[in-house]
Amino acid sequence: MYTASAEGNVITTEHSDAESLAWTLAMRARTTRITRATAAPNLVALLNAEGRRDCIAAPLFADGRVVGVLCGYDCSGPEGFEEGELAVLETLAREAAGALAKGSLLDEILEERRKLAEIVEHTSDGIVTMSSDGKVQLWNSGMEEISGYTAAEMVGAHGLDRLRARDEAGLDVMVDRWASGVEIPAQLQIIGSDGATRWLAASSTPVNDTDSRPHLLILVVRDVTRAHEVERLKDDFVATVSHELRTPLTPIKGFAATLVESGDSLSAADRATAARSILKQAEHLERLVVNLLDAAKLERGIDGEGHDAIIDVYSIAERISSEFRSAHHDRVIILDGETNCRARGDELFVGQIMSNLVSNAIKYAPADEPIEIRVTNGESGAEIAVTDRGPGIPQSEVERIFDRFHRLGNVLTRAAGGTGLGLYIARQLAAAVGGTITVESALGEGSTFTLHLRHPARLVAVS
Ligand code: ADP
Repeated sequence: MYTASAEGNVITTEHSDAESLAWTLAMRARTTRITRATAAPNLVALLNAEGRRDCIAAPLFADGRVVGVLCGYDCSGPEGFEEGELAVLETLAREAAGALAKGSLLDEILEERRKLAEIVEHTSDGIVTMSSDGKVQLWNSGMEEISGYTAAEMVGAHGLDRLRARDEAGLDVMVDRWASGVEIPAQLQIIGSDGATRWLAASSTPVNDTDSRPHLLILVVRDVTRAHEVERLKDDFVATVSHELRTPLTPIKGFAATLVESGDSLSAADRATAARSILKQAEHLERLVVNLLDAAKLERGIDGEGHDAIIDVYSIAERISSEFRSAHHDRVIILDGETNCRARGDELFVGQIMSNLVSNAIKYAPADEPIEIRVTNGESGAEIAVTDRGPGIPQSEVERIFDRFHRLGNVLTRAAGGTGLGLYIARQLAAAVGGTITVESALGEGSTFTLHLRHPARLVAVS
């Protein structure tokens, strides 16, 4: 127990132990008056020990428990403390206990406030509060992080004008007019201080005052930009795939309908043309499905195998070029370079990459132009270069041709009926064996696609 004593205007506090006079009187839990002449011996001993002649004590209660005691000592004059002074002390003790209770209530409120402020400050969610006239009152650090604007810049600002808040359709959202009933959508897009668009999942709670008038808006937001981007890419992918799959279906259905409806009246040559067209489109559809499945497999992380064996690059190139030579008798496919060429990788993957590169060269270069495959030991590892004398690729497109479904717009490459997935697959396979593919091309002259593989002696982790 702590005792506060006042002498004149000076108040001192000290710790009193269980043996003290104040403590002993407090434990009686009732207003008490003692003097050396009349008190019980233990109390007289305490009065003596503390150098007191007499004492009145009124306990302080909180929730029915004694939490302290108010004591008066050594009343001047021969009468000692009177009944009336006892009553005054009791009243004072009640007041003091009330003040103490209020004090601890205030402490609790301040503690709650502190905790709340800490939660608001440290949560990763953005929290904004806005008054009914649309002025920002609170801008927590989560909001600073998400928007790039500091509380100093935003508190007192008018709504989210600075962030150009818009809904999913791109229409402005007047967050500042919330009190007039403007709905805050669950998805908001804003422009951060760096000029980049951010997508927010928003949840807003209007708070009314005691007269049921709009008083405060609490807006809690979470940055969902990444998830939004993934969703958009997925949508784009599904749209592209369905478009790609539907494209060959249109001529298939058209020719098939012609054959069903007026096949008898067509000449044998026209019927054969229609059937051949159906076959060609069906083959294209098949290629598309096979490539799509390959691409999906690659996106799921190949198959978890290491694909990190030591491979004989030249013999793979030999196998692929002889396969292509036997399938395309009319084409000249030259293989040269270093026969003793090894690398780290996977025979099947490297063979597949080469196939995709050589089949492109065959597809896009004129039939009378040769295709050259060169195998060399480069500085950082083996290289397989496939060179054609085809139309070439504009500089602005050399990276984009590795994107899914990306095909050049020129008539020649369109007519070749590709799926736009071959190079995408090739690059994924190259990454799986720790390699890369680069392109050098000159319009009207031709292109060289080079697969760079890792040196057999160099052990590098493949992700
Ligand atoms: P596909 O050949 O099935 O269309 P790819 O992903 O293999 O798909 O190639 C993407 C695009 O890159 C092709 O459609 C073509 O426009 C262009 N391309 C690829 N290889 C060559 C090449 N050797 N010469 C010219 N253009 C090429």
